[in-house]
Amino acid sequence: MAKKETETEKKTETAEKKTKTAEKKATGSKKSEKVQPKSDAAEKLRDFFVDGLKDLLWAEQALVKNLPKMEKNATAPELKKAVADHLEQTKGQVERLKEVFSILGEKAEAVKCDAMDGLLKEAEGILEETEPGAVRDAAIIAAAQKVEHYEIASYGTLATYAKLLDETKAGAFLYATLEEEKQCDSDLTVLAETKINIEAE
Ligand code: FE
Ligand code: FE
Ligand code: FE
Repeated sequence: MAKKETETEKKTETAEKKTKTAEKKATGSKKSEKVQPKSDAAEKLRDFFVDGLKDLLWAEQALVKNLPKMEKNATAPELKKAVADHLEQTKGQVERLKEVFSILGEKAEAVKCDAMDGLLKEAEGILEETEPGAVRDAAIIAAAQKVEHYEIASYGTLATYAKLLDETKAGAFLYATLEEEKQCDSDLTVLAETKINIEAE
């Protein structure tokens, strides 16, 4: 009896520890701590701008790899087509980003975007959690729109920086992609509202 109790206590303790570690991971190490910059931390807005481009290059390349799976898992022909079209557009966006690097005289380097990595992991989970058909289609739209919103925020920010930094040509490229992402997002809204969500319901 006593042994059993100790075992239960131990289990509770481990569970508590696990929760604490998870909380730590989720909120960062110390809540109110001032973060020490890394040795290569951006000092000027231009550096931060280029860092953002590297993050986006990773994100777009990850989408080129992942969108085919979304297309394959979609059922409605309209959704399949929307995803396939945006895949082609995304390939063009990768090239456009590389062009931006070359305009700036910077090396086109992709640096892992934690946010896109997370959004794609979530999208993967959503597929497992939905039956193929209208409900999975609705879930694919939901995941895709989260991706588009992240891209809209990123391109919007970087296009504004480009303007501020007098990088007009680079800015024009970034605005062009921004418009494509916005269009894709609104097309998905129309598709959801006029067809997919209704079928899913
Ligand atoms: Fe994109
Ligand atoms: Fe990012
Ligand atoms: Fe996009």
